[in-house]
Amino acid sequence: MEYHDSPTATELAARAREFVDEVVIPTERDHLGDGPVGEDVIAELREEARRRELYCPQIDETHGGMGHDLRDVLPLFEEAGRSLLGAAAMRVDAPDEGNMHTLELVGTERQKEEWLEPLVAGEIRSGFAMTEPRQGGGSDPKMLATTAEKDAVERSSTSPAVPEAQQDAAEGSPTSTASPEATRDGDEYVIDGHKWWTTQGSHADVLLVMAVTDPDVHPYEGASIFLVPTDADGVELVRDIPHLGPDLDGHGHAEFRFDGVRVPAENLLGDENAGFAIAQQRLGPARLTHCMRFSGMARRALTVAKAYMSDREAFGSTLSEKQSLRYDIADAETRLHAARTMVRHAAEELDRGSQARVPVSMSKLFAADVAAEAIDLAVQCCGGAGISRDLPLADFYEAVRAFRIVDGADEVHQRVIAREAFDGADEHADELENLPTF
Ligand SMILES: Cc1cc2nc3c(=O)[nH]c(=O)nc-3n(C[C@H](O)[C@H](O)[C@H](O)COP(=O)(O)OP(=O)(O)OC[C@H]3O[C@@H](n4cnc5c(N)ncnc54)[C@H](O)[C@@H]3O)c2cc1C
Repeated sequence: MEYHDSPTATELAARAREFVDEVVIPTERDHLGDGPVGEDVIAELREEARRRELYCPQIDETHGGMGHDLRDVLPLFEEAGRSLLGAAAMRVDAPDEGNMHTLELVGTERQKEEWLEPLVAGEIRSGFAMTEPRQGGGSDPKMLATTAEKDAVERSSTSPAVPEAQQDAAEGSPTSTASPEATRDGDEYVIDGHKWWTTQGSHADVLLVMAVTDPDVHPYEGASIFLVPTDADGVELVRDIPHLGPDLDGHGHAEFRFDGVRVPAENLLGDENAGFAIAQQRLGPARLTHCMRFSGMARRALTVAKAYMSDREAFGSTLSEKQSLRYDIADAETRLHAARTMVRHAAEELDRGSQARVPVSMSKLFAADVAAEAIDLAVQCCGGAGISRDLPLADFYEAVRAFRIVDGADEVHQRVIAREAFDGADEHADELENLPTF
């Protein structure tokens, strides 16, 4: 399908496709059914991606990337998704990709130097710790229960007194008692809480931890994100959660407890209490990049299925000649094209500076459904081979199930879409004019 992506996007995608076909997929085939590939395998793939100038294209050159915008890397992300190793190879893999994006957007120069650049280089790994076990934050992030308190007591004994003018200015503000801005230097935050589903958490060097910093205001205005080194005192890796899904890239999903974890104020990512706004800036593009990778996966699944169907004979012809299967494939291709088009529209909106909440939610909702259906169909068309781990389909099938839950479950996105759909609906009462009223 021709999408008339920009010349840059088209050229990048063509080289990415070649890389995935020539290097990544053969490596994947060598390891299917084996469990996680070693770090040395990923390192070798990354070396080759660097050599082909396909490494971390989404991050600015000053930080070690290639400086392309979302719209220009979109088809490359799709190509990366065609193999479970493609995203890690080109350093467009979640959750680092979203975390690098956030650091690039709102990180300080020091944070970029300390965390972003080593992440881009592949020297360290990161996790995004937002979701909590019940009854903490999940589908409803307002239920966030992890807290980060400024250590005002210790600070007040070592810091200069707050200037009078600032005491006056702070009066009446709900945050004023905890943290007068003038004395931030040397402050620490103390984090207490419990997180789970932190992807890659057990391998991570640093976590982006979302915590309540002002319990007296609406949660959307009272949470912040902190950079928490995983070796900080009080960070307990409880376990890697046993889960449905392949782990060829060895990410895993971790549960953590935070017990009096102290981080310096410089580890606050972005402004205090701006955590949800920042998370939104992270999640918009991150949801779309998930859509791109999963639509690449769905496309590969259909390619595998069509190859099998063209070769396999039953009842006097190849499977590819059975009309019902041909129509099923036609439907899957049609829906996949629609999903890829929606993602391009939402990415364009984001690149224009819009939050694009509804286009992103629509893309995520639809792409997750389309990818899941296409992969399920591919498994079906390949019969027993579809279930085996000789083909990548079994891994894809397991991987795609989580897509309807991660980055907001279907219903959460339906809420967003419905809210806008019903906005102003009661202003059209005239549409009911001809109806009788009891
Ligand atoms: C593989 C995987 C990786 C993940 N990675 C990360 C990560 O790196 N960092 C992170 O912070 N989190 C991560 N998550 C967590 C993920 O974001 C949450 O699982 C998701 O937001 C849903 O939250 P929950 O699990 O608490 O479900 P709950 O909030 O308990 O919801 C359960 C179900 O209820 C339904 N539901 C929810 N709200 C409504 C509604 N209003 N109306 C109708 N139905 C509704 C949905 O079907 C939902 O799936 C990951 C999850 C998975 C499975």
